[in-house]
Amino acid sequence: MDFDALREFMVHTQLIPRGIRDERVLAAMRKVPRHLFVSESSRHRAYDDMALSIGEGQTISQPYMVAVMTELLELKGDEKVLEIGTGSGYQAAILAELSKQVFSIERIPALAARAEERLRALGYDAVRIKVSDGTLGWIDEAPFDRIIVTAGAPKVPDPLKEQLAEDGILVAPVGDRFSQQLLRIVKKDGTFREEFHTLCVFVPLIGEHGWKSAEEW
Ligand code: SAM
Repeated sequence: MDFDALREFMVHTQLIPRGIRDERVLAAMRKVPRHLFVSESSRHRAYDDMALSIGEGQTISQPYMVAVMTELLELKGDEKVLEIGTGSGYQAAILAELSKQVFSIERIPALAARAEERLRALGYDAVRIKVSDGTLGWIDEAPFDRIIVTAGAPKVPDPLKEQLAEDGILVAPVGDRFSQQLLRIVKKDGTFREEFHTLCVFVPLIGEHGWKSAEEW
């Protein structure tokens, strides 16, 4: 399959028509080989307009959702970014194309190990991954200029707000299992300004400051 052509087609049919305008985000989506972040059996569907299974009951998000969340972060290139929910590592690779340092936390060890292997093989050395409960953040590396949560939360975990730098931006899907909305928080003068964006559906954020279990969700 001509994956380069499929990627270009994805950008032209799924991202630009839906309003993704940030040229840097579009360039990153054109560049990162999404098909290498899914299993071989899913490769032919890697550029389809949907989330795909990555095993362990988890998903790689729909391309449009990755693009819209990334655009909301307004990355310029020199930021320190925290991602909660490494999953396949694809979003981390997109972030690495657009910022200086990426820290990514995954709660499922097998996913973190696979993501780490892929990111190293592709040369994304600016990404550091750890296995932990991401709702607690990454205290030793805080503060972060940007924080992105890629699993659905009942509310934004307080530790993440605390670890957001001044003038920082945090993006997270917030809601219940049936309906979530992207929430963007901008920290200014120590206060948090909130805006709601696109409706979305994510797998649950499970942890101390998230859902207590997949059953509670
Ligand atoms: N960003 C990922 C990608 O590019 O493939 C997709 C993320 S997937 C939709 C959500 C991920 O969040 C899952 O891998 C899940 O295990 C993880 N997750 C859920 N709760 C978590 C938590 N408290 N800390 C870290 N990861 C968590």
